[in-house]
Parts: sequence; C-alpha cells; structure tokens
Amino acid sequence: MKIGFIGLGNMGRPMARHLILAGYDVTVHDVRSDAALEHLGLGARWVDSPATCAEGVDVLITMLPTPRIVEDVLLRGGAAEALAPGALWIDMSTSTPAAARRVAEEVLDARGVRRLDAPVSGMARGAEAGTLQIFAGGAVEDFRAALPVFEVLGDPAKIQHVGAAGHGYTVKLMLNLLWFCHVVATSEVLAMGVKAGVDLGVLRSALLASPAASHFLEHDVLSVLVDGDYDDSFAMVLACKDLGLAVDLARDTGVPAELAALVEQIYRRAKASYGDLAGEMSPVRLYETWAGRDFRLPVPTVPAV
Ligand code: NAD
Repeated sequence: MKIGFIGLGNMGRPMARHLILAGYDVTVHDVRSDAALEHLGLGARWVDSPATCAEGVDVLITMLPTPRIVEDVLLRGGAAEALAPGALWIDMSTSTPAAARRVAEEVLDARGVRRLDAPVSGMARGAEAGTLQIFAGGAVEDFRAALPVFEVLGDPAKIQHVGAAGHGYTVKLMLNLLWFCHVVATSEVLAMGVKAGVDLGVLRSALLASPAASHFLEHDVLSVLVDGDYDDSFAMVLACKDLGLAVDLARDTGVPAELAALVEQIYRRAKASYGDLAGEMSPVRLYETWAGRDFRLPVPTVPAV
C-alpha cells in the first residue's frame, strides 16, 4: 500500500517513521525539508509539494497544526485534486468538522475520494511508542480499511470508530478541553493548599485517596512535580488553538461553556507569559508564581547498598 504523509512535526515525525518501519511505501512532505531526514534514511521518498505527495497514493495522511493549514494543504496546495478516485484521505490533525467538510464539498466528493478524520491522543511519547489513542469519524468500511494503518500507530485497544465524519474531531476537542480543565483546576487546588501551609506530597496523596482523585493528578502532573517538565512536545500555541476550537464548538452548538471560556483565557495568559512554544503545562507555572514556590516533590533517596 502506498501512503503519502504530510506534516512531520512532534507527532507526525514518529508516526511516519512507524509506517516506514512497518513496510509501507511512504512518501513524505513538510514545509521544512530537514524534518524528513530520518525518513529518507529509512527509505521514504521526499516530495516538494502537497499535490505531489497525494499523487498515486492509496492513503494520504495529514498531521498538521491548524484547520486553516489543513484546508490550505488540501485545497490551495492541490492535495485534494491530486488524490485518485477511491483513495482515502485520513486527517489525524486536531482540526474541525467544518474545515474537512469544505475540502470534501469543494473537491473530494465529486472525485469519489473517501475520507476519515482520525485525531489522536497520547502526546508525543505515545506517537514515539506507537501507542496512540485514535478516534475515527467516517464510514465504517473506510475505518475497517484503515485499521491496519491505525494499528501501526496506536494501541489496538484504544482505536475507536466514534461515528460519522467529523465526530473524531469533536471527541478529540472534548478530550483536550476536559484535560486542560484538569490542568487549571489541579493547579489552583495545589496553589491554595501549599500557600495555606500543607505539604505538597501530603496534599496530593490525600486527594488521590479521595473522590476528587484524577488521572491527571495521579500521572500527568508528575512531569512537573518530579522533573519540572512542562511538556514542550505540545506547544502552548497548539493548546490555545484547541481551546479556541472547543469554545467555537460551544458557540455552534448553543451550549453555554463558561468554564471552557475561562480555561481558554488562563491558557492564553500563560502563553502570553511564557511564549508560543512553551509546554502545554505552562498554566501550572502561573499558579506556582501565585503560590510563591515551585510545585516539586522531594526526590526519593536511594538506599545505600
Ligand atoms: P508540530 O507543530 O510539531 O508539527 C506540525 C508540522 O506541520 C511541522 O513539521 C510543520 O513544519 C508542518 N507544517 C506546517 N504547515 C505546513 C504546510 N503548509 N505544509 C506542510 N507541512 C506543514 O505539531 P504537532 O505537535 O506534531 O501536532 C500536529 C497535530 O497533532 C496538531 O493538530 C496538534 O494539535 C495535534 N496533536 C498534538 C499532540 C502533541 O502532544 N504534540 C498530541 C495530540 C494531537
């Protein structure tokens, strides 16, 4: 099977590598040609444009930053026109149903090109490990056809067909919104608790043993608490993009979303403070500032042998 892959960033780079190592015939493209060096070393073919990347492939995968760029690459970049009838476009970017629908209505539907939206979760380390969670929207038969490809990129137990075209994007945006809410809510709780004098480790273990426990408090926040790592493999500019798209969805659906809007503003404040490329956990830093100290657990001492 021939696969075209566009977007070799923090996520796309390891994803494309897995597909090459799995034996697929992969052609790659990115605006940064140096992003493809390791893929060329593994036998992939480099092309200079989205249109050439789409020519003659069975499957075109896009892993791009924003809905606007997805649309640019497919429409103005010519990838949609270059796909053969019967080919399958899989957009794994965190994007919107509206952007993909415009691509379908303007080009794909008339040409008989199939499409799935299949955004992912699991961070850059999940992409590296090939254990991503994948939420696919589109026709069931297209999902079945794409399953062998998804199984190279993701954990088979976490690959899910979530409904019609666009539903993958929606599920992914809801997941990110809830996770960003956890980041902010947890940071606020930790800041208040430690400012009031409670030991950080004691506060965390008490919360973990309570009904207020969360996966975020148990696992994800440890990158900050143990290593002081705010996860710059997912940039604040992308986190703010996702929150903006979630707020747009709230507007489109008519659902009041006060919390989403507030969390978006806190994320934008952190982006303004620490920069577009700062890590997705940067809001924790705001609360550390307000608490007057970093949130760090003591490094466990290794017993002498
Ligand atoms: P990234 O910014 O690291 O990579 C994006 C890549 O797209 C870059 O290599 C860039 O050069 C390329 N690109 C930009 N414009 C282009 C164009 N016009 N033509 C061709 N290539 C172009 O982003 P990422 O972290 O890899 O994220 C990609 C997508 O996956 C985003 O939608 C993001 O929201 C989503 N996502 C990211 C993570 C994460 O942890 N990083 C997790 C889940 C989902």
